[in-house]
Amino acid sequence: MAVFPLTSPNSSAVDSAVGDKASVSGDSSAPLLGKSLEELTEWMQAQGQPSYRGKQLYQWLYQQGARSLQDITVFPKAWRQERENVHLGRSTLHHRVVASDGTVKYLLRLADGQIVETVGIPSAKRLTVCVSSQVGCPMACDFCATGKGGFVRNLAVHEIVDQVLTVQQDFGQRVSHIVFMGMGEPLLNGSSVVAAIRCLNRDVGIGQRAMTLSTVGVPGRIRALAAEQLQVTLAVSLHASNQPQRLQLIPSAGAYPLEVLLDECREYVQLTGRRVTFEYILLAGLNDRPTDAAELAQHLRGFQSHVNLIPYNPIDEADYQRPSEASIREFVAELESHRIAVTVRYSRGLEENAACGQLRASKSR
Ligand code: SAH
Repeated sequence: MAVFPLTSPNSSAVDSAVGDKASVSGDSSAPLLGKSLEELTEWMQAQGQPSYRGKQLYQWLYQQGARSLQDITVFPKAWRQERENVHLGRSTLHHRVVASDGTVKYLLRLADGQIVETVGIPSAKRLTVCVSSQVGCPMACDFCATGKGGFVRNLAVHEIVDQVLTVQQDFGQRVSHIVFMGMGEPLLNGSSVVAAIRCLNRDVGIGQRAMTLSTVGVPGRIRALAAEQLQVTLAVSLHASNQPQRLQLIPSAGAYPLEVLLDECREYVQLTGRRVTFEYILLAGLNDRPTDAAELAQHLRGFQSHVNLIPYNPIDEADYQRPSEASIREFVAELESHRIAVTVRYSRGLEENAACGQLRASKSR
């Protein structure tokens, strides 16, 4: 199995932030959430319990949604009480708000007091969770509320898995889909994100094909992700059809030119055989003209990909505008005329600031 690189070539504070120590097997001080059946069994044995207790712990953790060791009533009471400071790794609910379309935004408090956002998005047959991978985000994209708030730290594996369990328990329904489109840049926290994907698949039972990882791109990390041989969908936040335009919106594009990003995406398709989704925020008068669509189509000709257009969701800190329906239709038509597969994503939860790009760990706007 490939190992996701922990540090980037231009290593920064991001890489030294709290990572995935929690997933290291045998680390008895780490929260239990995120560990595999084998690791939990080893932990139980180290605590003087027979191995079948490991299976029980596993089931209570991932299926019954135990929040504390004290909840696991099949374990001897005295034994549980002696372990009051063993943490399973669950967050506590700080705030919850329901939008009129049924989308639920959660502010979750982590063990160190940091707050992270998660969104539960119900639809006819699905329950999708939009998970965060970092507290804040260092990428500072100009249209994104999370980026405007700065970066605090990476999330650990259990803090990612907990978000999914929290939504599943609150809805009383199995989560069917996961999108890594909440706060943060997942590929700056690659090792924890990959470990969380494996745990959510193996232990929570969510298909990898029902998971999407969205990235604005970090040099070398898309290639590293391909080496992990996951079945998840890769979504790349492109948002522009040429380098100067992209650089205007995305500061990190300076160190990762559009052509280099696209080359790495092509390599990803070759290595995985999976198509890539390109996300493209539509900003009125800025990147929404038919000529922009035509330029985008040139880049994507013959590329096994799909374009997902996201009409801009307003945030207080920026004064971009969402294009009119007519110009969105024109953009779609131009792409289609070049035989580019395209869909338009209307974000849910807009009025509660629970939509794409609006997450900033605040209770309201
Ligand atoms: N850092 C990752 C994942 C988080 S953002 C990434 O950039 O892909 C998830 C998606 O929401 C991205 O495509 C992002 O560009 C988009 N987004 C951010 N701000 C937005 C806004 N104000 N309106 C619409 N989409 C936005």
